[in-house]
Amino acid sequence: MPIRETFWNIPSWAEAAQYILATLTVIVFLFGVARHVLRWRKGKPEKRSGHILARLWSVVVQVFAQRRTLDEAYPGIMHFSIFWGMLTLAIGTVLATVDWDVTHLFFGFQFLKDGIYVVYELVLDLLGLLVILGLGMAIYRRYISRPARLQNLPIKSLSGDDAYVLIALTFILLSGYLTEGLRIAVLQPAWANWSPVGKVVGALFLATGDPTNRTLHVVIWSIHMLTAFGVLASLPFTKLFHILAVPINIYFQPMKPAGVLPPANTDGGMGVKEWKQFTWKQLLDFESCTRCGRCQDACPAYASAQLLSPRNMMIKLDAHIWEKTNGRALHGDVISADELWACTTCRACVQVCPAFIDHVTTFVDMRRSLVDQGKMDKMLQDALSNLGRYGNSFGQSDRMRAKWTMGLQPAIKDARREPVDYLWFVGDYASYSATLTDTTRKTAEVFQKAGLNFGILYDSERNAGNDVRRVGEEGLFEMLADKNGQVLSKIKFQTIVTTDPHSYNTIKNEYPDNGNGHPTIMHYSELLDQMITTGKIKFSKKLGYKVTYHDPCYLGRYNGVYDAPRRVIEASGCEVVEMPRHGARAFCCGAGGGRIWMEEKEVKERPSELRIREAVALNGIQAFIVACPKDLTMFRDAVKTTGNEKSLVVKDLIDLVYEAL
Ligand code: SF4
Ligand code: SF4
Repeated sequence: MPIRETFWNIPSWAEAAQYILATLTVIVFLFGVARHVLRWRKGKPEKRSGHILARLWSVVVQVFAQRRTLDEAYPGIMHFSIFWGMLTLAIGTVLATVDWDVTHLFFGFQFLKDGIYVVYELVLDLLGLLVILGLGMAIYRRYISRPARLQNLPIKSLSGDDAYVLIALTFILLSGYLTEGLRIAVLQPAWANWSPVGKVVGALFLATGDPTNRTLHVVIWSIHMLTAFGVLASLPFTKLFHILAVPINIYFQPMKPAGVLPPANTDGGMGVKEWKQFTWKQLLDFESCTRCGRCQDACPAYASAQLLSPRNMMIKLDAHIWEKTNGRALHGDVISADELWACTTCRACVQVCPAFIDHVTTFVDMRRSLVDQGKMDKMLQDALSNLGRYGNSFGQSDRMRAKWTMGLQPAIKDARREPVDYLWFVGDYASYSATLTDTTRKTAEVFQKAGLNFGILYDSERNAGNDVRRVGEEGLFEMLADKNGQVLSKIKFQTIVTTDPHSYNTIKNEYPDNGNGHPTIMHYSELLDQMITTGKIKFSKKLGYKVTYHDPCYLGRYNGVYDAPRRVIEASGCEVVEMPRHGARAFCCGAGGGRIWMEEKEVKERPSELRIREAVALNGIQAFIVACPKDLTMFRDAVKTTGNEKSLVVKDLIDLVYEAL
């Protein structure tokens, strides 16, 4: 009768030693886990309760179905194989323990017998192969194909940690198969076919015969046990800790919209100056990083100048929170100001991270401290002081804000004086930048032709504050938001519309938290799409251009608006050809997070130039379409600096609508 003989051929001293080792392993494991929990508790409080079902579902989808991990085929399949294989083997070990140490010991029966046992053997045997496949893929990738994102870790000793995990798991698997094979070689059970791998391994030992095989079995079983317990005990002290940290991190992911930055820490100065000012969740973030490098590959700051690698930031922060106090400062010694200022807050890193780490809030928290101490470059200082003084980064007076409206007939309504359906929040760049006002006027003309009842705030509008907040100037953000909020509360309108994804983001997601009501807001691409669908905008011709579309980070990744602009482009009679990085994977123009106000370091190629090259490589593209005033500035410049002026023209979405009307 097939039955699991748990301690077949194992001398009683080894059996006893196993229980002693198991107890020691559990003690070391719990001690290690407790160290992490105590470390997280050193962080500032942060509320991450509620939404229990949504959180659990996310764990199911992201941990068990490995949804985000599988976004990339090779590393996805590799990790999926190791994860599911090891999980099944772990469940198998638990079942075997219960079978022997609970049901057999206390109730005198084993459930791992007959049909159940042979299926158990088959499943474990095959799933072990899956782990070996995954480990083989991992070893090939790390040591033979060697993608750049796995290289050059900022802490060299971590390469040893990576190697340890691969070697230890491979050793457990191989020694497990050897133990099984030797048992089969000696016993030659009738049900050996249910352990196909074990049977093949066993065949290798048929010639050796007894008692050598029995002796080998005890030796390899002992090594297998020692390795398995060693790996389990080392789990909280090695990269393997991600097995626990990542599911917890996924469970506690933010449930607010992506466009909401958490409030600043104000205890001991604004933002984060030393690591204990991070929240417990941020400390958990650092410990969850598996060093996979996906974030680094997605990062425009890294692609452009390699000044900032979000992967390295997490690695350095994780190491720092475990450092003995040796005088190394978080700012300066661990993380440089250049790294922090290089971030465009584009969120590409957050979007791809399989551990659901939120890099952006950490970087902004640290920027808040730099701003608090006045540590920023001159250009940024000037921009912030202009924003404080004039309400715009151009340093121009309020009265000049609506200069672009001069000569427009009919005149644009003043929403402060009469009720309107749509309040157009124009934004700084569209209002003040001399190279953009033509586009702003075209937008007004399209709205007028469509019969839209709209108005603007004229000199009462202020910068919405989105990038001021991302720079880390929390006080100035609140001041700007309050000023805009006061004006908005006094006027009558139904919906705000804006061409600026940055203003869109903060008004939609952050103004409500700032006590400025819950205004309904649409991006102009959404409004145009709606007006085309309802027949308010009717095109008189089909443009017939082949174009590509650049998703602005604060419209796409932050707010999920991907389809409306594409529908507008198609309605104008153009064909959209997608760049390789589009939608949620779009590559940032490099202007966000206040970067547009900062001095530019010497770089090989700017993100906007890399993006233009990506578009040019599509071949046959006539226009590069944007839906953000800052993008228009960035990409028109990049087309010139990359020498593509003759082959590619950068147009705003409104240019297509205007032309097709
Ligand atoms: S937000 Fe963008 S620029 Fe900043 S680290 Fe992430 S990917 Fe890089
Ligand atoms: S932060 Fe996330 S994406 Fe980046 S290396 Fe760590 S786990 Fe990978």
